[in-house]
Amino acid sequence: MVIYIHIPFCKKKCDYCDFLSAPADDETIEKYVVSLLREIGYHGSKYGKKGEDRNIETIFFGGGTPSILNVNQIEAIMNKLKDEFNIEETAEITMECNPGTADKNKLMAMKNNGINRLSIGLQSADNDELKGIGRIHTYEEFLYIFSVARECGFKNINVDLMSALPHQTYDSYRATLEKIVKLHPEHISAYSLILEEGTPLFDRIEAFNKEGKPNGLPDEDEEREMYYMTKEILEDNGYERYEISNYSLKNYECRHNIAYWVREDYIGMGLGAASCIDNVRMKNIFSLKEYIELKRSESYLDKDETEVLSEEDKMAEFMFLGLRLTSGISTKGFEKQFGKNFDTIYGSITQKHIEDGLLEKNGENIRLTELGRDVCNVVMSSYILC
Ligand code: SF4
Repeated sequence: MVIYIHIPFCKKKCDYCDFLSAPADDETIEKYVVSLLREIGYHGSKYGKKGEDRNIETIFFGGGTPSILNVNQIEAIMNKLKDEFNIEETAEITMECNPGTADKNKLMAMKNNGINRLSIGLQSADNDELKGIGRIHTYEEFLYIFSVARECGFKNINVDLMSALPHQTYDSYRATLEKIVKLHPEHISAYSLILEEGTPLFDRIEAFNKEGKPNGLPDEDEEREMYYMTKEILEDNGYERYEISNYSLKNYECRHNIAYWVREDYIGMGLGAASCIDNVRMKNIFSLKEYIELKRSESYLDKDETEVLSEEDKMAEFMFLGLRLTSGISTKGFEKQFGKNFDTIYGSITQKHIEDGLLEKNGENIRLTELGRDVCNVVMSSYILC
């Protein structure tokens, strides 16, 4: 079983972001942590040492900006998790960390409290590009946090990058990739910018489009080129692509994300966090005020957001999550999990994708081809609909 902890606060909202996060004052953050500690206790009594006592293989602090927490809050949350849950000695414990929100003291506190993996949100090594998407930090501030993290003894660091940013060029993206591989982080996540409706960046681009002015975004061909270049540069530098947008040095794949993709049970704690336990999908309430003010007897769950997964849902999830991985899905694993013959359920749709060159067989596994990755959403959603 794995645990996700959501910290929904950021110093300032980035222009492209539609995540559940917002700036908040110190008092609100402190109240949130108090409520979060209570929620950890609630789940601990069900699945922790006082309940079913399931082993915890990974913990991931995401957000928002978890590194906005102060040293005492980080310590209190980690202590509560250790008190309540049976955390495996080798557990991967990640905290997302944004430049501009952490210093040596804080990173040392993270390390001393058991956090053994950092995920640093950089996005670009070009300060104008960072400014253009409303990030609060510069590349130099990232370099500072990266080197301090190494000094503090972090041996497993991810760097988040983004392509297809406004005014980003093929050459500037190449420069970002080349600068980052020289730092040898153990893991690199490289996503394309997705313009989300309702964000300031979306509105800005729309306005340019309406006025018929250049919107600054790379066109589709440039975006594709950047996507292929990511793979080329990262693979040339020893990174293995183990998922559509994730690369790592050998044995440094993110165990937490893999747990989602292979459908392990997860408990999400904190505002709006999602859980899936014993094939029941749940979501926590989305109102910060309500979350902070919950009484001891009240549930953290949003009553309208609980869904019992049917056998069809589970099989479709097995397919569209598993196909994200470079290794693909195991047909034997499917048959073991569902007690059904793979070909009887998905034989014809899979065969069609193989004939179209989108999927390929590799022993008992079925995986996306290069071409299939280009249209992965189409391939994956075909398993939901069939
Ligand atoms: S730091 Fe991350 S979560 Fe916060 S606003 Fe920026 S993109 Fe969103």
